Amino acid sequence: MISLHTFNLIVIGWIIAGLITFPLTLSITAPYGRHTKKGWGPLINNRIAWILMEAPVLMIFALLFLLGPNPKSITTWIFFALFMIHYVHRVFIFPLRIRTKGKKMPVSVMLMAVCFNLINGFLIGYWFGFLSHAYPLSWLSDPRFIIGVLVFIAGMVINIHSDQVLLDLRKGGRTGYSIPYGGFFRYISCPNFFGEILEWSGYALLTWCLPTLSFLVWTIINLVPRALDHHRWYNNSFPDYPTGRKAILPYIL
Ligand code: NDP
Repeated sequence: MISLHTFNLIVIGWIIAGLITFPLTLSITAPYGRHTKKGWGPLINNRIAWILMEAPVLMIFALLFLLGPNPKSITTWIFFALFMIHYVHRVFIFPLRIRTKGKKMPVSVMLMAVCFNLINGFLIGYWFGFLSHAYPLSWLSDPRFIIGVLVFIAGMVINIHSDQVLLDLRKGGRTGYSIPYGGFFRYISCPNFFGEILEWSGYALLTWCLPTLSFLVWTIINLVPRALDHHRWYNNSFPDYPTGRKAILPYIL
């Protein structure tokens, strides 16, 4: 079993690794979706890649949480439920709804995502299953928990709604890309990423621990550069792209 001290060092190391990686993710455009390009090795069906790269986090988190010796409380079951709701949607619902027929993703990108997801799923699951201090029932009335849950839910609603707007752009067999409107698209190009970051900010707040903070840091490191790339791409591709829109943070970035 990993000691609390070693575990904390691993998580801090993982956060530092993320911060070191950030300039790299800012300078290299992740080559999937609209940014797919040759030179990243063999390709795999887009839908299958999504399932394969997101499933590990769900499995490893659930296994460690459920099999770990830590006593479960109503509070930790709520942590478990919120995490699982997000990932059941991400693994079993989102990939089946995307309209990317014939599209492929580099296997290398998928494998990087698998590693990223395994590490995050391991750290969060191991924390709750093996190491975390007891989260008592009184934690449910702590402002960090209450605000965190509200932020998490708001983020999930924005994320799912925004992904839905994007998927609807290809209704009726349409392919290619068009300008999304409505909801938070009024303010930013990538409200789905904004919602995802809100979700994990809420989760870090409501669980108040290092592993969920490290997951938030890595989510920001992944999604802010992708949002900047998408925003640049929209502006270059559509002369009539709404000028007031920012990339990921309304009015700011
Ligand atoms: P995108 O916004 O790039 O794409 C989402 C879907 O909508 C894709 O199927 C895409 O098709 C389609 N789409 C996007 N824009 C348009 C448009 N203008 N017109 C028509 N169709 C469009 O998101 P990602 O694929 O990168 O991510 C999907 C989800 O996964 C998001 O909710 C995101 O938050 C989450 N995610 C979370 C990460 C994390 O670190 N926690 C990391 C990466 C993603 P196509 O694929 O053909 O471009």
